[in-house]
Amino acid sequence: MPEPADLESADRRRIAYVLPVYNEQDNIAAFQAALSEATAARGDLDFEFVYVDDGSRDESLERLLELRAADPRVTVLSLSRNFGHQLAVTAGLDVVAEDTSADAVIIMDTDLQDPPRVSVQMIDLWEDGVDVVYGQRRSRKDSVLKRSTAYVFYWALDRLASTEIPRNVGDFRLMDAKVVAEVARYREHGRFLRGIVADVGFRQEALLFDRDERFAGETGYPLPKMLSFAANGILGFSTAPLRLISRLGIFISLLSVLMAAYVAFVRLF
Ligand code: UDP
Ligand code: MG
Repeated sequence: MPEPADLESADRRRIAYVLPVYNEQDNIAAFQAALSEATAARGDLDFEFVYVDDGSRDESLERLLELRAADPRVTVLSLSRNFGHQLAVTAGLDVVAEDTSADAVIIMDTDLQDPPRVSVQMIDLWEDGVDVVYGQRRSRKDSVLKRSTAYVFYWALDRLASTEIPRNVGDFRLMDAKVVAEVARYREHGRFLRGIVADVGFRQEALLFDRDERFAGETGYPLPKMLSFAANGILGFSTAPLRLISRLGIFISLLSVLMAAYVAFVRLF
């Protein structure tokens, strides 16, 4: 007969965090401390922290390796160069999807803008049967530029996209393992993860939260990266640009035929 404690440990559910890092040397220690503290409230669960170093140019990788040495729950992936946030998260999700032991995955930023204690509230909702719990910003402390460009982008996306993609929602979310398996099947390079997750279905619910300020360092999303991210969102989830281009093509061909006819007419008569 197994001891009750053994039965319990075989039953323990496992949550994997996927944590993208780009030049966060001064945030990593504080972030992991806050995350360890928040998750300690759930001693009945097993946790795994998968950090993905996205080609940082500072000491982030060294800091991450220190974390790994201190805590066996930490895994560190190191990308060969900076691929951008969406691909860094994808690499982390792939690792978790291949190793099927996680029952749910939480994606969050490592600059403390996504509060660790909110991620623990996401777990409660998942236990109530929600498959995707996405963090929806009730308030944010970003710059006016960031807020206004985000507003215009979501407005355009709302009008153009065929999938309904919630507003004021970043990639901070919990996904059940079955959702992660579906998301892993989307293999486009120009990824817009929050759109892909919205596209796969299942029971999805918002959890409102107040987004904090970045703890230290500066944003790894300067304007050019933001624009290419926005383009991936619109091109990936709307046929409008494609339709526009084909209409433009038809229009130009028609115009050339008319011009040719006109030139022929003038020549002949
Ligand atoms: N990040 C990344 N690769 C990048 C840029 C950012 O992995 O090329 C990470 C970054 O370390 C952070 C998260 O993605 O954990 C969000 O980035 P950031 O805070 O710079 O964006 P913002 O919050 O300003 O939109
Ligand atoms: Mg940030």
